[in-house]
Amino acid sequence: MNLEIDRDRLSREIEELARISDAEAPAVTRIIFTPTDLKARAWLIARCEEAGLTVRKDPIGNIFARWTGSDAAAPAVGTGSHIDAIPNAGKYDGVVGVLGGLEAIRALQRSGFRPKHSVELLVFTSEEPTRFGIGCLGSRLLSGTLSAEAARKLTDKDGTSLEEVRRKAGLEGALENVKLPNGYFKAFVELHIEQGPLLERHGIPLGVVTSIAAPASLRISIEGAGGHAGGVLMPDRRDALCAAAELILAIENAARMTEAIDTVATVGICEVFPGAVNSIPSRVQLSVDIRDTNLERRDDVMREIESARDAIAAKRQVLIEEKLLNADAPAECAPEIIDALSQSCAKHGEKFMPMVSRAYHDSLFMSRIAPAAMLFIPCRNGYSHRPDEYASPEDIARGALILAETLARLAE
Ligand SMILES: [Zn+2]
Repeated sequence: MNLEIDRDRLSREIEELARISDAEAPAVTRIIFTPTDLKARAWLIARCEEAGLTVRKDPIGNIFARWTGSDAAAPAVGTGSHIDAIPNAGKYDGVVGVLGGLEAIRALQRSGFRPKHSVELLVFTSEEPTRFGIGCLGSRLLSGTLSAEAARKLTDKDGTSLEEVRRKAGLEGALENVKLPNGYFKAFVELHIEQGPLLERHGIPLGVVTSIAAPASLRISIEGAGGHAGGVLMPDRRDALCAAAELILAIENAARMTEAIDTVATVGICEVFPGAVNSIPSRVQLSVDIRDTNLERRDDVMREIESARDAIAAKRQVLIEEKLLNADAPAECAPEIIDALSQSCAKHGEKFMPMVSRAYHDSLFMSRIAPAAMLFIPCRNGYSHRPDEYASPEDIARGALILAETLARLAE
């Protein structure tokens, strides 16, 4: 089998997809089910059909592009990632796994390889939590981690329900039908940029992911009392933003306290109401993201945040409500997929390092229903989720090559 990645075509396709964006180049913004996202999906489906793949969509819009194997009834070998992008993001997050996965399949086709197991490229719906507040919507539903009932309760910030949004996007059928039957996938492997600096720092071109950190996210709302910034005297105040400030620092402290390098906590959104210079903040909404490779430690941090929250609410006489959006367990990647990836690297003489994924990915949820693992390539300075995110064509092609080799090993 002579595998050759068409690096120029792959680079061209990455550029082409990046132009389907709601932000000015080089930034990419593609929020799920916006006209731009729908255009990108149509463009991608056309590329898959050109490659002779059979394309279907499920009721949440996950795209499956299948290269049918000689044993069509056997469980498939899956690869893929996402093409949605947060506001002002870069071109590579997710896209490398989707277009790299497509190119890996095309390289296998060109080599004359014929799979026994079908090889399926997946494009997951809403890996990013931008619109509905929850990340990995598509893979959560596929794996049964999120129930159809819970998904139906999701709304975007305009109050439009997920049901309405997806039907407008032309997606029919009940969300109950998204969950994959047991044994659908024999294996799943996702190619992705590292979104961290370690590969670059060590001068190693590939990372084989052995575990994925456990994420949790909270939405906290703090209700105080508003009023005139001149009229209400300090002893009478119940300023929601001052309470939020204390809570934000308590959250940072809770993560630092574990002294573990893998514990991180971030308050990424702070919305202040009514938001006027001469008005005391009456209400604040915070979005909190907490992650760790160790579930117990992550949950300790969450308990620490809860007790800080109660103390601050009592001291400042404000009402603090907390909504847990998700708290997922970490995933251990499957030894047989890690093996297949390692052997593929060895065969092509490529160095790799085993690593932990601190960002979470659709593979976290795919690992609940199939043996799964991930392959990382370096990205410049570890930057991601920003317009200057960059992975070199050489690194991307190398990743696609090892992915192709791995898919062949798993599908033969
Ligand atoms: Zn991603």
